[in-house]
Amino acid sequence: MEFSREKRLKARLAGDRRGDLYPHSLQFYLQPPTENISLAEFENFAIDRLKLLKVVENLGVSYVKGSDEYKSRLEREIRKLKFPFKALVEDDYDARRKDHISHFILRLAYCQSEDLRRWFIQQEMDLFRYRFNELNGDLVEKFLKYVNLSYGAISKEVKEKLAVQLLNSTPGLSGAKVEELEFYKLTARSLPAVQSDERLQPLLNHLSHSYVGPDYSIQKNIGKISLEHIDALSVKSFPLCMRQLHKALRDNHHLRHGGRMQYGLFLKGIGLTLEQALQFWKSEFIKGKVDADKFDKGYAYSIRHNYGKEGKRTDYTPFSCMKIILSNPPSQGDYHGCPFRHSDPELLKQKLQSYKIPTTGITQILELVKGMHYQLACQKYFQLTQDVDDIGFSLNHPNQYFAESQKLLSGGREVKKEPSEPESSQQKLSSQKSTNSCSIPISSNTEADTELEGLDAYFTED
Ligand code: SF4
Repeated sequence: MEFSREKRLKARLAGDRRGDLYPHSLQFYLQPPTENISLAEFENFAIDRLKLLKVVENLGVSYVKGSDEYKSRLEREIRKLKFPFKALVEDDYDARRKDHISHFILRLAYCQSEDLRRWFIQQEMDLFRYRFNELNGDLVEKFLKYVNLSYGAISKEVKEKLAVQLLNSTPGLSGAKVEELEFYKLTARSLPAVQSDERLQPLLNHLSHSYVGPDYSIQKNIGKISLEHIDALSVKSFPLCMRQLHKALRDNHHLRHGGRMQYGLFLKGIGLTLEQALQFWKSEFIKGKVDADKFDKGYAYSIRHNYGKEGKRTDYTPFSCMKIILSNPPSQGDYHGCPFRHSDPELLKQKLQSYKIPTTGITQILELVKGMHYQLACQKYFQLTQDVDDIGFSLNHPNQYFAESQKLLSGGREVKKEPSEPESSQQKLSSQKSTNSCSIPISSNTEADTELEGLDAYFTED
């Protein structure tokens, strides 16, 4: 792929050439793109594909893969994000081009660690499977020929002979369907080697840790939170990570630097002013082993720094879920991190029990944790604690969790209570484990992340 900061140099291809490039709506991504694209388009394509893969992950743990509900929701999303959605639409060059380029961008971003790779491959496989299954017999043949896969359909006789095995090995298939469908000797799973472009490395690094959503460094609710309300808010509207930090602070009158950074920036994001933050931390710390003088000399500086009033005067951004999940894991005596990622499952279970989460809900959360779907586990926790059936957003950030909860509690968002659906189509969390994936949301907060590295230095005092 070639990229430049200027506008894309090459005009879109026209006529037959377009058709030659993408003769089929489904791709095997054998060749990387060779055209020039602008960085803006590069980032937009990457973000849209991440959104799509996040939906694929969400649907994969909420609905039976291949069920009508799963398919219609996925199709809706594919159409919304303007990826090729219908095999028969011939003139969807733009969608096919976007599909092609965005796949390769994410391949570069997600090849960098085993966890990320597994997550990416899992979602891409699910997406491919859905799209492949949407093809009719002729198109399947055309596609296999196009990608040079000489997998022929098995004969009618072989199909009859293997009917029971085919039925048992294909989820969601009925006997009648076995007769209707073509089966192929097709097992290719591997993806070709990844080639990266070093000019894009910083962007790619951040894509895999990033998230799409509002910028919580901009304090919209500044001064609207009063310190007396924080205890109640921590129970009603804080995500589990922040509830845990708040409780530890109240219990121990102290938090180590990882906790102070994570929680301090979160509080700033929900609207605490600098003066409130100083008062809040001081009043708690002086109940413990830190006297007022030591607080003013040691800790107040770091809080002012946090608010951009010291040092480089950078306005620091509250941490996203991805940053919390992937970096700086807590050690003994720490309370920061994501409890769904970093707690022992037994301890997590006890904590959820103490918060009166129903047993079935705890089981569902632990299943999601086991499958490494940490943010989906957190969404489940939101659903159970806020008593909604559909949370109506895709969780990427602790401050987003807080904002959504507040919206619900203040009646700013309609509570969507759906009638319970039969187990067969909804929430079959335990029966269908799409393994080895973690929720990977996205952002382009590259600057803020880089700046945060400098902030660490100011929080070294335990
Ligand atoms: Fe906090 Fe995000 Fe983990 Fe939820 S998923 S507990 S908001 S870090």
